[in-house]
Amino acid sequence: MNTTNIPYKIYLNEDEMPTSWYNLRADMKTKPAPLLNPGTGQPLTADELKPIFCEELVAQELDETTAMIPIPDEIRSFYKMYRPSPLVRAYCLEEKLGTPAKIYYKFEGNNTSGSHKLNSAIAQAYYAKKQGLKGVTTETGAGQWGTALSMACSYFDLDCKVYMVKCSYEQKPFRREVMRTYGASVVPSPSDSTEVGKKILAEHPGTTGSLGCAISEAVEVATKNPGYRYVLGSVLNQVLLHQSVIGLETKKAVEKYDIHPDIIIGCAGGGSNLGGLIAPFMGEKLRGEADYRIIAVEPASCPSFTRGTYAYDFCDTGMICPLAKMYTLGSSFIPSPNHAGGLRFHGMSSTLSQLYHDGYMEAVSVEQTSVFQAAEQFARVEGILPAPESSHAIRVAIDEALKCKETGEEKTIIFGLTGTGYFDLVAYEKFHNGEMSDQIPTDEEIAASVAKLPKV
Ligand SMILES: *Cc1c(COP(=O)(O)O)cnc(C)c1O
Repeated sequence: MNTTNIPYKIYLNEDEMPTSWYNLRADMKTKPAPLLNPGTGQPLTADELKPIFCEELVAQELDETTAMIPIPDEIRSFYKMYRPSPLVRAYCLEEKLGTPAKIYYKFEGNNTSGSHKLNSAIAQAYYAKKQGLKGVTTETGAGQWGTALSMACSYFDLDCKVYMVKCSYEQKPFRREVMRTYGASVVPSPSDSTEVGKKILAEHPGTTGSLGCAISEAVEVATKNPGYRYVLGSVLNQVLLHQSVIGLETKKAVEKYDIHPDIIIGCAGGGSNLGGLIAPFMGEKLRGEADYRIIAVEPASCPSFTRGTYAYDFCDTGMICPLAKMYTLGSSFIPSPNHAGGLRFHGMSSTLSQLYHDGYMEAVSVEQTSVFQAAEQFARVEGILPAPESSHAIRVAIDEALKCKETGEEKTIIFGLTGTGYFDLVAYEKFHNGEMSDQIPTDEEIAASVAKLPKV
C-alpha cells in the first residue's frame, strides 16, 4: 500500500481486536527473576499468593510459558465500549517540527478514567467476580488507577475500597468524586481504620501519606476481610499481560497499512503501558524476526532504570509485599514532589528490568519542564491535552524526530499516549506561571536508599 494514503487515524474494526493477550515472558530466554517471600527468601508459591490476590490472577502472574492467554468474552465486550483505540498519525506535529520522520501515537485516553489503566482494571475485576469475591482493595496515588478500578468494579457490581494518598485526596477532590460516582469508597491514607495506618499516624503525626503506606493499608484490609483481595495497577506481570492489548492492536494496525516502525517509545512508571505497547514487537525481537529501537522514558526525579540498581527490593515502603528483582532506587526512596504523578514509583516491572538488563531496550530520563514544553507543543498542534506521564514519551518522540530533521532520515516513530491531563491542570498552571522546577536526586540520596536494600 502507498504509505501516503495512511489516514490520520487508523481504527481497527471490532472483529480485529485481539482475542488473546500476549505473555511476553514465554519468548524470553532469560526469564524475569521470581517474586520472593520476604520472610524465607524463597520463591513465592501460588498458595502463598492466593490469600492476597485473586486465584486466576495468581496463575497469570506465575505463568511464564503460555504465550497466548485467551481474553474472556465478558472482558472483550467491556473493551468494545472504548476499544479498539486509534493509532494516530501525527501529521500536524510532523509538519510543525519540519521533520522527515513519521510519527504515530497509540491513544489510550479515550475513556472516562483517562488512561490505559482500565485495560487491566476490568480484567482484574472480572476475575474477582468470577471467584465469587465481595470486593477488592487497592491504593491510588495520582488517582488514575483508582478511577479505572472504580469503573470496572461498578460494572461487575463489586465493592471497591481505594486507599488514596492523603495529599492527593485533599489536592485532587475531582478524581475522588469520579471514584465515588462509580460507587467506590475512598479513604485518605494513612487512616485510623487499619493497624498499619494507626502505627504510621502514631509515628508520624500529620503525615500526608505515601504510595507505599497506602499499599500496606490496602493489603491489610484485603487479607483481614473474608471475600476481599488486593489488586494492583502496574508493575506486576499480570498487568503487563492485560496491557498487551495495546501492543497487539498497534501491531495489527501497522500491518494493515504496511508501516514499519523503527523506534517505539513509552513512558515508564511501573512499566505496564510500555510493557503492553512493546509486547508483540519485543516478541519479534526476542525471536530474532525483526529489530526495533525500544525506549523507556522516565522522570529525572525518579530515574529507576537510568540510575537505579538491579536487585531484589520491596514493592512497598511498609516492606510487607513480596520481593521483586528490578531496577530500583530503593523502597525508602521518596521522589521529590513533582508532577510526574503515575511515574513516581521507586522500582520497575521485573520483566522490563530483565529485558533492559539484557540489552533489548534503552532508557532515558527527562526533566519535567522540558516534558511540559513538549506537552504544550503537542496539545497545540494535535489537539489532545496529554497527561504529564504520557508527555514524557512525547518529549522523547519529538527529540528523535528532531534528530531525523538533522540527518534527513525518514524514521518511523511510534509512541504510547497513555492518557489525558484534565485532572493535572494545577501542574500545567505551575508550568505556565514559571513556578515549575526540575528536581533531580543527588548520587548521595540514591546511594543512601540503595544501601537499605534487603540482603537476599
Ligand atoms: C499510571 C500511568 C502511567 C504509568 O504507569 P505504567 O504502569 O508505567 O504504565 C502512565 N501514564 C498514565 C496516564 C498513567 O495513568
